[in-house]
Amino acid sequence: MEGSTPHLFGRSTVHTFQHDVARAAAAVADRVGTVRRPYSGASLTDLQAMVDAVDLDRPLGDTDAALDEVGRLYLDHAVWFHEPGYVAHLNCPVALPALSAEVLLAAVNSSVDTYDQSTTGTLIERRLVDWAAGRIGFGPDADGVFTSGGTQSNLHGLLLAREASAATDLSRMRILATAEAHFSVTQAGILLGLGRDAVVPVATDDVGRMDPVALTAILDDLIRYDLVPMAVVATAGTTDLGCVDPVDAVADACARYGVWLHVDAAYGCGLLVSTRRRHLLDGIERADSVTVDFHKSFFQPISSSAVIVRRSAAMRRMAHHADYLNPRTATVPNQVDKSLQTTRRFDALKLWMTLRTVGAEQLGTMFDRVVDLAEDAHRLLIDDPDFEVAAAPTLSTVLFRYRPAWLDVDTCDTLTPRIRARLFAGGEAIVAGTTRKGHHWLKLTLLNPATTVEHLRTVLDRVRETGWELLTEDDPRLATAVV
Ligand SMILES: *Cc1c(COP(=O)(O)O)cnc(C)c1O
Repeated sequence: MEGSTPHLFGRSTVHTFQHDVARAAAAVADRVGTVRRPYSGASLTDLQAMVDAVDLDRPLGDTDAALDEVGRLYLDHAVWFHEPGYVAHLNCPVALPALSAEVLLAAVNSSVDTYDQSTTGTLIERRLVDWAAGRIGFGPDADGVFTSGGTQSNLHGLLLAREASAATDLSRMRILATAEAHFSVTQAGILLGLGRDAVVPVATDDVGRMDPVALTAILDDLIRYDLVPMAVVATAGTTDLGCVDPVDAVADACARYGVWLHVDAAYGCGLLVSTRRRHLLDGIERADSVTVDFHKSFFQPISSSAVIVRRSAAMRRMAHHADYLNPRTATVPNQVDKSLQTTRRFDALKLWMTLRTVGAEQLGTMFDRVVDLAEDAHRLLIDDPDFEVAAAPTLSTVLFRYRPAWLDVDTCDTLTPRIRARLFAGGEAIVAGTTRKGHHWLKLTLLNPATTVEHLRTVLDRVRETGWELLTEDDPRLATAVV
């Protein structure tokens, strides 16, 4: 044995392990210590050539050499979410204790599908599910499981809704959500066999929140046409506008019609620990199932998400048993009984380490801070005649575009995605893009509590300069025409 497996983790390699992890940590720390922009700005063509040039059939033989190579391939061109110029998607800088947890859970390699592969891993995950359920306001009958992300949590919640439905004809089942809901809801409808048109859009108010009156009208209509409202999805933090549907009013309608309520709080789950904005989630305790993405507003490394249900029986209904894994007669808790995955990472340890080190209150303050920052960004934008803003923020996103008064809307629509692409190519600032009612917008998604208004001012100046640069490249006469 000794010496025959020098590359596998075990008793004879613990020193190599420590050396390797320290080197890996040093390599990433070296970049983070020196990097001053979210991206190198390398082109796809160059990166493709670099990756293609590696001969995967000629190993380098030792981790140090492979790490050096990966440093050049990956670390030198990674997109850094901790850099204040990164304001694009729902990615957060990660909590340090969670990174220590990553080392542990990857090395031990526990699989939390069964108790006999994870022991306290299973118990720790269950405590965290109970903790999250408590924060939601569910009673002692709640249950849940960690998942790979909000997409899987939404699928799981809607699967439970389908199984809880008295109806059996899938083609008649409908899911109600606003047009602002995440695309994974539509995808879940397809995966669950309901078809592409299963999601019925519910009208929103002028802010983008579900209109409970419109919801009731649609529920009436569906029933009149002999269709089955299988679930209502209320989004607590929409991906574009950060809107929070009025969960309590939606829960009233669901209760009246006996419809499953799924709350997609993938983004807004940070409100669960917010000291100043928890009220935005009022009514979430009446949901049947809830999606929470700790890898968004709890500052956790990907993956860390969970689906939490109010009544454990709903989840147990989906349990399947295999004699080789989780026999019916088991006297220990096997999380696979309620998961869509089998072999599964012990991601829960990251949240555990974070709660034990930082605590929920501090996490909530960090989330509140990025929401405050979005309000600051909004103020900067509305005070600036070069920019147009789509809506006031609720959480930490702001939709805007570069549009001085003299710029017509068609030109602005072609310009906006080009600004975004050129910014990315420069590597200094990364913003997201979306469309609303056929028009292009840029999006700031703020999840970095260390970002300041000054940083945002710099990003907005880059957007402005880039817009002007592109316009004058298209039409050099512009430089003299506009003063
Ligand atoms: C991000 C997001 C999802 C999907 O979550 P993943 O973790 O990316 O799979 C679902 N719903 C909403 C509202 C989201 O913002």
